[in-house]
Amino acid sequence: MKPQQIGAFRVDRVLESEGPYFALDFLLPGAPAELIGENADWLKPAFVDPADDRLILSFQSFVLRTGRNTILIDTCTGDDKERPGRPHWHRQKRPYLERLAAIGVAPEAVDFVFCTHLHADHVGWNTRLENGRWVPTFPKARYIFARREYEHWEAVHREHLAGRGEPVSHGSFADSVLPVVEAKRAVFVESDHEIETGVFLEPAPGHTPGNSVLHAESGGRRALFIGDVMHTAVQLARPALSSRFCSDAALSAATRTALCERHAETDTLILACHFPTPVAGRIRRHRAGFALAV
Ligand SMILES: [Zn+2]
Repeated sequence: MKPQQIGAFRVDRVLESEGPYFALDFLLPGAPAELIGENADWLKPAFVDPADDRLILSFQSFVLRTGRNTILIDTCTGDDKERPGRPHWHRQKRPYLERLAAIGVAPEAVDFVFCTHLHADHVGWNTRLENGRWVPTFPKARYIFARREYEHWEAVHREHLAGRGEPVSHGSFADSVLPVVEAKRAVFVESDHEIETGVFLEPAPGHTPGNSVLHAESGGRRALFIGDVMHTAVQLARPALSSRFCSDAALSAATRTALCERHAETDTLILACHFPTPVAGRIRRHRAGFALAV
């Protein structure tokens, strides 16, 4: 993704990985196979692999530089994490911090980290392994978590510690969220919290209970960091389709549909965590649904 200018703000992406990933009906249960063919004109080759119709996904962060603050949005899967249930995330080594350095951002320069939600692929780089301990990767940053989201997963984590249920999101709550809280770098906010003028959260529940998006408005322009409100651009064609990873599929569908309706045919630049290169685009009405104009 080319750097994007939003008024006085600048947005870059930091890529962790990208490539063909899921079959349509795995990620979006119930999705009709013809959805890709009907929208091939804009989905291929960027969002759907022409070879086998697999959905192409990125794992990426965004860096928003406002002039006042450097804000890192979602932190991918991270290095060295124990993720035996997800082989492609397990004990990973990727040049993420080098790519962050390449856009001129040292870990010490990050003022805020914001995780749209607390799944393993959005919190990984919150921490790094140092002498066998998980420490905050961004030592001077305040890590912003929506209180509702944090409290939900903290309760699930306590259940797990009591012997009920699996570790939260492959163990990521324990190795990528709690160490930040214990280091006193976490800030718990309401789901409409304003970080600075023009930069504010909005609740977008459904994918997870406290899932939130981030608005960035400057000079009459707007970017919207939507996290996993959509996992693939295919969902623009049919916003009612929720992913298999959504905790409340019906609520996720309602949130996604409302977001598409509200921002369609506007200048809002949509930045989703898993949309592959060229990543950024604007929502346009297309056939019975929507499309992404890049
Ligand atoms: Zn995700």
